[in-house]
Amino acid sequence: MWLLSHQHCLCGLLGQMGDSTMIDNYALWEMHEAEQERQLSKLPVCSCCDEHIQDEYFYQINDENICVHCLNEYYRKDTEDYVQV
Ligand SMILES: [Zn+2]
Repeated sequence: MWLLSHQHCLCGLLGQMGDSTMIDNYALWEMHEAEQERQLSKLPVCSCCDEHIQDEYFYQINDENICVHCLNEYYRKDTEDYVQV
C-alpha cells in the first residue's frame, strides 16, 4: 500500500516536471523555427521553382540560380536521345 501511494506521488511529480519541460521545449522549438526562417530568407532562390535553395550547392546559369532538383528535372538531357534518331 505504501508502494502504491509512493508511486502515485512520483507520478504526480513526474507529470508536473513533464509539463514544464514541454513548455520549455515548445519555446525552444519556436525560437528554433524563427531562427530557421531567418536563415531561410537569406538563402538564394531558385529562379525555376521559386524555392529557397537549401542544398549545399546550386547552379548558376546565365545569372539565374538553379537548384539541383530543377537542374536535373529541366536542364539535364540524355545525350543518347540525340544520337538515337
Ligand atoms: Zn528549383
